[in-house]
Order: sequence, then structure tokens, then C-alpha cells
Amino acid sequence: MRLTSLEIKGFKSFGDKVSIHFDKGVTSIVGPNGSGKSNVVDSIRWVLGEQKTRMLRSEKMENIIFNGNKNRKPASLAEVSLSFENTKNILPTEYSTVTITRRLYRTGESEYLLNNVTCRLKDITDLFLDTGIGSDSYAIIELKMVDEILNDKNNAIKNLLEEAAGISKYKIRKKQTLQKLEDTDTDLKRVDDLLFEIERNMKQLESQAKKTERYYRLKEQYKELSTELALFTISGSKKTFDELQKQEAHQQEEKIGLDTQMDTLEAELQQVKLLALDKEKNYPNHKRF
Ligand code: ATP
Repeated sequence: MRLTSLEIKGFKSFGDKVSIHFDKGVTSIVGPNGSGKSNVVDSIRWVLGEQKTRMLRSEKMENIIFNGNKNRKPASLAEVSLSFENTKNILPTEYSTVTITRRLYRTGESEYLLNNVTCRLKDITDLFLDTGIGSDSYAIIELKMVDEILNDKNNAIKNLLEEAAGISKYKIRKKQTLQKLEDTDTDLKRVDDLLFEIERNMKQLESQAKKTERYYRLKEQYKELSTELALFTISGSKKTFDELQKQEAHQQEEKIGLDTQMDTLEAELQQVKLLALDKEKNYPNHKRF
């Protein structure tokens, strides 16, 4: 695997697009002090995903965007692309040329691309994981780091040897695995909390279900009893109605008998009245006034 080219645009001192081609053998970049040689190293470190501004010799990440000079306006974004030749398939991808790109806009938005396709930083770090290339690996050694190694600051020699021996990748994997275990532990605790909550909700639902069941049972009983009551009331009323009808018929008969008696008595009374009138007429001492 070989570094083939680096394109820098809007990064630190590079307002214009600069392309550096790395041919076989050694490539040297020379220039006067302050011309931007270390910025080239910074751009490689940055495109590989460096997050620490200190490692980029900057206070804020925004400061890595070209902030203009007397000939050029400040850039709105910084963009760096780094290409590798992958003919030996050292990078776990089918592409024979791999280009990684990082962009940072003044708005704070940032993007990573893998062969011009948007991806996550993790995709890039995973791609380079076994290769010894990374923003914090000894594949990129700047001037300050040479001092650190010579002075063995922060176990720099041990770290350098570990990386050269291929141990550091296992250390990274161990760290990642431990992190995963910790995350899984947190997830398990959350699952426990959720289970507790679900169990509590289940109990509530169970009690509500029992109440609902009782409600429907009682409602059914009420319906049955209401129907029985209605039937009972109807049959009682019918009995009373029948008895009253019978009484009415009986009284009707009695009325007819009494009416007949009344008619007979009326007729008799008329006859008595007629007889009385006759007698009155024929009475000798009858006086007329
Ligand atoms: P030396 O040989 O002294 O170490 P060098 O060639 O490595 O120098 P660098 O440190 O890479 O130089 O570059 C420093 C230059 O980059 C400075 O002139 C600084 O003004 C310029 N610079 C840094 N950040 C920005 C930025 N955001 N916009 C424009 N210029 C910047």
C-alpha cells in the first residue's frame, strides 16, 4: 500500500487548491520557515480523522479553515483528500485506489467521504485499523513528536515499539471491546429498568383486565335480571288486566240486569200513575178548582 496523492484546499495556509503527488521513493517538501510544511503534515493527520485541535497546532477546529490573506478572501470550507494505492489489498476493500476526504464548513458541519461517497469517521478508522495508519499513529511524525520520542515523553518509545510490533492494534481492539462491553452493560441495565417498568404495567393491565371482565359479567347479569323483571311485571300486569276484564264483563251483565229491572219498574210506575189518574178522575168528591 502506498500513499499516492494529497489534495488540500482551504486548509490552514492553503487558500488555493494544492496537489502533492508521492511517487515511488522519498518525497521531500522544502520551503522557508512559515511556508506551510507542517500544515501538510497537519492536513494528513486531519483527513485521517484527528479530533484533537492541539494535535493540529490550533486552538479551535474552525481555525484550520483558511482565514484569508491580503490576496485572497477567507475560505468557507476546508477540504483535504488523501489517496492510497491498494493493489496489494492491504485495505479491506475491493478498490485498487482508495481516496478519503474530509470537509469542514464554517457553519461547523463536517463530512467524511470514502471514494467520493459520504461515510462515517468510524468507516475510515475501521478501514485503516490493521494498517498502522491513523491520525494518532507513528505513521505521521511531526517535528514536535521527534522531540517527544527522543525524550521518551508519555512512554513515546514504548508506544512506537508497540505500534511497530503490531501490538497497538490489539490494544485499540481491546479498548473498543471493553467499550462495547461497557455499552452492553449499560444497555442491559436499561433493559432491566424497562423489564421492571413493563412488569409494573403488566400488573396494572392485569388488574384493569379483571375489572373489565367483572364489569362485563355484571352487565350480563343485569341484562338477564332486567329481562326477568320486565317479564314478571308484564305477566303480573296481564293477570290484573284479565281479572279487571272479567270484573268489567260481570259488572256489564249486572248493569244489563239492572237496566232491565229499571225498565220493568218504570213501566209498572207508568201503569200505576195511569191508574192513579183514572181513579182521580172517577173519584165522586173530586173537585175542580
Ligand atoms: P517552520 O519551518 O517554521 O516550522 P512551516 O513551513 O512548517 O514552518 P507551518 O507551521 O506549516 O510552516 O505554517 C505556518 C503558517 O501557516 C503561518 O504563516 C500561519 O499564518 C499559516 N496559517 C495557519 N493557519 C492558517 C489559517 N487558518 N489561514 C491562513 N493561514 C494559516
